[in-house]
Amino acid sequence: MSGAMVLVFLGPPGAGKGTQAARLAEDLGLTKISTGDILRSHVARGTELGKQVAPIMERGDLVPDELILAIIREELSQMAEVRAIFDGFPRTTRQAEALDELLAELGAPVNAAVLLEVPEEELLRRLLRRAKLEGRADDNEQTIRRRLQVYREQTQPLIDYYAAAGVLKRVDGVGDPGQIYCRIREAV
Ligand code: AMP
Repeated sequence: MSGAMVLVFLGPPGAGKGTQAARLAEDLGLTKISTGDILRSHVARGTELGKQVAPIMERGDLVPDELILAIIREELSQMAEVRAIFDGFPRTTRQAEALDELLAELGAPVNAAVLLEVPEEELLRRLLRRAKLEGRADDNEQTIRRRLQVYREQTQPLIDYYAAAGVLKRVDGVGDPGQIYCRIREAV
């Protein structure tokens, strides 16, 4: 399969974006771009950027838009043809607008924004379980609550943004991962 294609995965932390985006990327031959993974890799390698963002991530706050947008520009510049799934980006209106501008230059609009919907109690349960299994620095209860609050305040407005653009796909994110994947395939 070829031709420009851009998908965005929206949804709160713990909704299953990373897992589902990875599977969809593989099946559709798209590159998954996860800003969280890229940032964690910088922290692990101890780069300048990593040192700058580590305390922000540990608090559960958002990294400044300009740092995130520099990462995205770099990733997009490496693609001969834009075929990407964004996981955990955009997270603010400013990021979404900047993504649209970058994509307009490349002639490749966002084809679909998949919103994985999961009730907050379920998210808390999942994140606390992941904290035990993976030991991520930002998976403790205090930070998890902060990340959920940041999502509500800064990222939720993007639901209206993509609905207005006519590309929002709401998907029930509760259930068996294989079943959720089928719902996503039907939606996009
Ligand atoms: P994630 O793995 O997507 O949940 O991201 C983990 C952390 O990385 C977030 O809590 C933020 O601190 C930071 N982060 C990841 N993506 C972004 C983004 N698009 N904008 C701002 N901060 C981000």
